[in-house]
Amino acid sequence: MGSCRGDDRAALILPDGRTISHDALHLLSGRLANLLVSEGVKPGDRVAAQVEKSPEAFALYLATLRAGAVFLPLNPAYTSAEIAYFVGDAEPALVVCDPARAEQRARFMDGDKRLMTLDAEGKGSLMDAAISHSEAHWPIPREGRDLAAILYTSGTTGRSKGAMLSHDNLLSNARVLMDAWRFTSNDVLLHALPIFHTHGLFVAGNVALLSGGAMIWLPKFDADAIIRMLPRATAMMGVPTFYTRLLDRADFDRDLVSRMRLFTSGSAPMLAETHRAFTDRTGHRILERYGMTETNMSTSNPYEGDRRAGTVGLPLPGVELRIVGSDGRTVSEGEVGMIEVRGGNVFLGYWRMPEKTAEDLAADGWFTTGDLGTQDADGYVTIVGRGKDLVISGGFNVYPKEVEEQIDRIDGVLESAVIGVPHPDLGEAVVAIIARRPGADPDPQALIDGLADRLARFKQPRKVVIVDELPRNTMGKVQKAALRAEYANLFG
Ligand code: ATP
Ligand code: MG
Repeated sequence: MGSCRGDDRAALILPDGRTISHDALHLLSGRLANLLVSEGVKPGDRVAAQVEKSPEAFALYLATLRAGAVFLPLNPAYTSAEIAYFVGDAEPALVVCDPARAEQRARFMDGDKRLMTLDAEGKGSLMDAAISHSEAHWPIPREGRDLAAILYTSGTTGRSKGAMLSHDNLLSNARVLMDAWRFTSNDVLLHALPIFHTHGLFVAGNVALLSGGAMIWLPKFDADAIIRMLPRATAMMGVPTFYTRLLDRADFDRDLVSRMRLFTSGSAPMLAETHRAFTDRTGHRILERYGMTETNMSTSNPYEGDRRAGTVGLPLPGVELRIVGSDGRTVSEGEVGMIEVRGGNVFLGYWRMPEKTAEDLAADGWFTTGDLGTQDADGYVTIVGRGKDLVISGGFNVYPKEVEEQIDRIDGVLESAVIGVPHPDLGEAVVAIIARRPGADPDPQALIDGLADRLARFKQPRKVVIVDELPRNTMGKVQKAALRAEYANLFG
């Protein structure tokens, strides 16, 4: 694929109306691939990119794979200290960062690592240097099991781990999702997700590219821009906060989504209530799916068939899934246990963490996800929460989600996060951090009293803290580890 394929249809549609054709994207990535090779990037070398979302940043991803190297995207929000860890850990041959950060970044890089820049407008030393290179590039051959990317996990439960993903991992999952969600070259995917994460880069980016459709390429989630672009789109992939924010807008209505055929959600739990409110407003049933950096996508609600609110659907084709109890045996239907998955979607292991890899990824291919869930008689999987968030209070297991669901029904409550906090008698005490609805002023004691006849005593919060909002990261994940640290001394 060294030359043009004669495909002048749009691959990327930009907010200012410009479009970039499949051919133009291909040629741009060819130019960048030639640049990488000339910069000494060899097959298997890492190319780290801490850059804003732009067409050029996406082309850099494609170029890295074409050059046989390993793409390593990093959240632009990471600080210098965090980047120092990632760069020290992954030892990239080339780091691309925003020009505004170049000086800082250069300080912790050894002499043999290259640093280039790329800003939000697609300008910087990377593109300046690319100009002199040819657009024709013949990809460096790679095997299916060769590394294509290292993606650091979101760091929700602890320090981010580098997940090693092969070409086979990415291609097989993109094929499965394209098929499962019926993507074709007629699709126009509204893309407002970040591209340093598996959701925006692989689930959205790879599926749209593989299907030959177009993406409306928004630099970030912006409700005004989404509302302006929705009439041109056929599909959107989002995190739950995208949907709650759209529902907050009175001008988000049925007319706006008349051309849409699919809305998907994932990366964080979607409340069944949001799911229903969305259907009431638009007539669409959001398709919720479940995956993680290490596994790509593992389950999905069906495209045709019953999309069940509050569930993440059925194992995708080629993915085996089982729910395992603490005794290591598969639990019976409806019982809570650890979700394990196996298949072509599952990563190769954690980068330079052989012990962690051995702990979570068994020799026979089964991967322990760290998520607790149930599976019903029809095969639908429901996530109950993360194993690390399980609260053990006075010897009893408390699943935070169950408590949160009860709290969220109370007037004046917008949402809640239930955590375990060290307690002298109980070991851990159940504590609820509650975000109030704007204008509401719920009384903590009344909230606790209100739960008395809804939850067994051991599940009831010992303390309630009212806040304006829960801490979330860019992917809409509630930062429970941060909450646990903040309230660690509540009883001590
Ligand atoms: P870390 O592993 O560093 O603690 P993380 O697990 O949040 O961070 P990701 O790989 O981005 O990093 O997220 C995967 C996790 O997101 C899953 O293990 C699961 O807990 C959660 N998740 C993804 N999709 C859903 C969903 N539809 N419903 C509930 N949880 C989901
Ligand atoms: Mg994780």
